[in-house]
Amino acid sequence: MYAYQLYDFGKILKAQRLNPDRLAKLQSDKLSKLIRHSYAHVPYVRNMLDARGIVPGDVARIEDIGLLPLTDKSFYQSLKPGERAADNLPVERCKTFQTSGTTGLPLRFHMTRRDFTMRNLNSARAYLASGYEPWQRMAVLAGDRVVNEKRTWNEKLGFWRRREISSWKDPEQWLDELETWKPHVLVGRVTTLVLLAEAFRERPRASLRPKRVFASAEVLDDASRNFLATTFGCPVLDFYFTFEGGCLAWECPACGGYHMNSDMVIIEVLRNGNPVSPGEEGEVVITNLHAYAMPLIRYRQGDSVVLSRKTPRCGRGLPLLDRIYGRKEDLIVLRNGRRIPPQAVPHVFIPVPGIRKWQVVQPAVDRLKILIEPKDGFDESARRILLEEMMKLLRDDVRLEIIVVDSLERDREAKFRPIVSEVKKEAGQPEARGAELP
Ligand SMILES: [Zn+2]
Repeated sequence: MYAYQLYDFGKILKAQRLNPDRLAKLQSDKLSKLIRHSYAHVPYVRNMLDARGIVPGDVARIEDIGLLPLTDKSFYQSLKPGERAADNLPVERCKTFQTSGTTGLPLRFHMTRRDFTMRNLNSARAYLASGYEPWQRMAVLAGDRVVNEKRTWNEKLGFWRRREISSWKDPEQWLDELETWKPHVLVGRVTTLVLLAEAFRERPRASLRPKRVFASAEVLDDASRNFLATTFGCPVLDFYFTFEGGCLAWECPACGGYHMNSDMVIIEVLRNGNPVSPGEEGEVVITNLHAYAMPLIRYRQGDSVVLSRKTPRCGRGLPLLDRIYGRKEDLIVLRNGRRIPPQAVPHVFIPVPGIRKWQVVQPAVDRLKILIEPKDGFDESARRILLEEMMKLLRDDVRLEIIVVDSLERDREAKFRPIVSEVKKEAGQPEARGAELP
């Protein structure tokens, strides 16, 4: 961490306590600066504004953001690299990330050093607020096969120590590494953390004793949260990270909701293109205020959240979300339009004996495949319980099929999706129908 980074960090630590008016002013200033930069240097943004007869000066306040069109993943994929990158920030001086389809944009993504720093400081602020202390060791169960082993100077001095653990190894190997390094904080995807917890439970005299577990990237359902908390005997907190926006929101124990990092990323919660009222669910649309190399403007993230009615109690001004649902396609939508929140589904499996791992795939609106990787005890009566429990949840005429498999392989980059709905791709299943129900 350099002096200018400490200065930036001081500023963003202060910004989390701004009152709503001053937060809006800060957002407006950052947005207008980003739009001016993007209009001058990023061809797609210039074309977008020109096509609507907008000039950068029209987007001076946060309320003006609605003048800009929504964008999404396929739009960015359709652009040529030269159309989406800033022409005054040479690519060779940027950090480049290659993403796969499962983690976000399947394209090369550039960030300036400053974009990257601000992204990291944004996460660091959320970690500090969640009880992380800078002298503590943090282990990240990363999705990557090959992990970064470079140590920065601050790590050598003993603060912000971070080590990545490859999720391509076996959980027993993760546990070996972690028991040697003895981290205070574990960070990882929910599924990965649960696999680690299972390995921990199976090992006699396991010595891993984290003080906190930070979960992200997948829905932290109650069953997984309880399992992690009882296994490791420490608080488990949820973080909403996306590749495109970095840390979007994080769980605040004092407020009982998720603070949005609205000073760093504008997070709009929309339904049919209009902002929802507090208490309502809508889709997440982000504008990353610190992405100058490849600006993301009003980008549809693909997740749905519930905006909170609560005002923060912890002294922060960052507004709150009540809930974060999984990716939109991971909601099961039934024929009558009822949607099953991903958090509900794991509870179906709790009373069923003999299940090591499960996955629910919805190939059609009236069909559900339940894939089971069994262990001892998955017999006829277990099957019957499973079908009964699933019908209790669905309450609809759905054809259920149990498929026993040897192994439920994790996807590349370890982003296993426990619930996969393919319904959206089907003709005659309008996406908006589900979105209009409570
Ligand atoms: Zn709070």
